[in-house]
Amino acid sequence: METTTPKRPIAVIGAGFSGVIAALHLRRLLPADQPVLLCECTDETRGGAEDGAGENLLNVRATNMSALAEEPNHFTDWLKRQSAGDLPGLHETSAGLFVTRALYARYLQALLDAAVADGARHRGLRPLTEQVTDIVETGRSGYALSLAGGRTIEVAGVVLAQDSLPPQEQPYELICANPWGERAAAPLSNDQPALIVGAGLAMVDVAMSLRRRGFRGKIVAVSRRGLLPTRHAPAADWDTPHFTLAEEQSLTQLMVRLRDEVFAASEQGVDWRGVIDSMRPVTAQLWGRLPPAERRRFLRHARRYWDTHRHRMAPPTADEVAAMLADGSLEVVAGRIHGFEVGPYSVRARYTPRGAAEATMLKVQRVFIASFLDRIDGTSDPLMQRMLQRGLIRMDAQGLGLQVTDALNVVRDDGSTDEHMWALGPIVRGVFWECVAVPDIRVQAGYAAVGVVARLREDAPKSGFIV
Ligand SMILES: Cc1cc2nc3c(=O)[nH]c(=O)nc-3n(C[C@H](O)[C@H](O)[C@H](O)COP(=O)(O)OP(=O)(O)OC[C@H]3O[C@@H](n4cnc5c(N)ncnc54)[C@H](O)[C@@H]3O)c2cc1C
Repeated sequence: METTTPKRPIAVIGAGFSGVIAALHLRRLLPADQPVLLCECTDETRGGAEDGAGENLLNVRATNMSALAEEPNHFTDWLKRQSAGDLPGLHETSAGLFVTRALYARYLQALLDAAVADGARHRGLRPLTEQVTDIVETGRSGYALSLAGGRTIEVAGVVLAQDSLPPQEQPYELICANPWGERAAAPLSNDQPALIVGAGLAMVDVAMSLRRRGFRGKIVAVSRRGLLPTRHAPAADWDTPHFTLAEEQSLTQLMVRLRDEVFAASEQGVDWRGVIDSMRPVTAQLWGRLPPAERRRFLRHARRYWDTHRHRMAPPTADEVAAMLADGSLEVVAGRIHGFEVGPYSVRARYTPRGAAEATMLKVQRVFIASFLDRIDGTSDPLMQRMLQRGLIRMDAQGLGLQVTDALNVVRDDGSTDEHMWALGPIVRGVFWECVAVPDIRVQAGYAAVGVVARLREDAPKSGFIV
């Protein structure tokens, strides 16, 4: 029997890759008249990390960037259907095809537009350009979302898809805790260096963006180990290793085994990249089985090495970085930053280069922080802060993100499972580790959507849900 009671929407918070794909899966699986709200505080759909204009290349080959796990060629087929003249942003390399962020964002937007148009009759999928500032439980197994504009919306469930949470901004204009924020966009002069804290893919993104904005001064990147990401290159496949129980329990044994696999692969002419890529199907399982103390050791000692080999630069990006290093316009320093003395027009960074006995001062015009938020509670995001304070969510054991169940249901501070709230994407990396790139997030998105559908079915007598 059909009900006339309007259905409360499912709210997806964040329209980055995770949120868009979760919304698309929900739209496919839910009845047409079940509304889905896609809440985004900016007016953009972002295709894989931000970089301002979107001209930087994605670091994953186009062949791995389909939004739909069950249709691996979905993105490359979409590319083929676009007219060639209309497609800036394609880069064919010996290691495969890479595209710009802007082009990928176009793809996501096209998928989203089609889903919105498809659901228009029932107002099935509704984008909402407003920041969600708070979430409060209602008595009807659901939530009330507070929006920045002052409105409140009752929803039947919430899917959290907010990565890249903003860090706490520093009280100084010249220090940009968010390298994509407003103060980072202020003009730079070419006669003083700029400092980037971090040496990973985010640093590369910031450096490339500074160049594209016309900055010709020197860029100094400082990180504890000074390790740059490696570059993509053609690599043959390698069989995923079967790890022993002892290896799964010990970081040292895992690392030894990985080194042995790389050695065995090279003896057969297979590049180390093939071995690293072969780990992908088992990384989440390995992470899940590592004892907490071993996970902490990984984060302290091995994470940077893993990240630099696992998350690699597209060859054209790696070439640009190499050219900048060669002409001295980019310098990457291993060292520890102790603090900043901030003046009206410049910043003096005090740091000790690795291996040196004494600290050095570096005078720069601006500092860009391009490193991870160490802990999610370090964010200035009001929604995350309020939910943490209210105990609606709990951080994972390492504080990297949110604690969720295997079914992606959020775990509350008291340890109970929230049956009406899910989280996906890099925000749950503390639980699954391997969930920061499209090939993994798209699987989670489908999984979360199935969970939402199952929940609404169970709630049907209360909510009038009919499939
Ligand atoms: C430098 C770099 C390069 C990368 N390159 C690749 C790549 O080539 N391929 C790949 O697969 N992955 C890549 N990744 C990883 C990938 O970009 C991210 O993991 C992925 O985009 C995360 O998507 P997301 O939707 O979870 O988060 P985001 O893209 O951060 O989206 C979250 C969205 O939520 C919104 N939001 C947050 N809070 C609220 C709120 N309270 N109310 C409303 N809206 C809110 C934000 O505005 C934002 O748009 C890269 C990452 C980095 C750092």
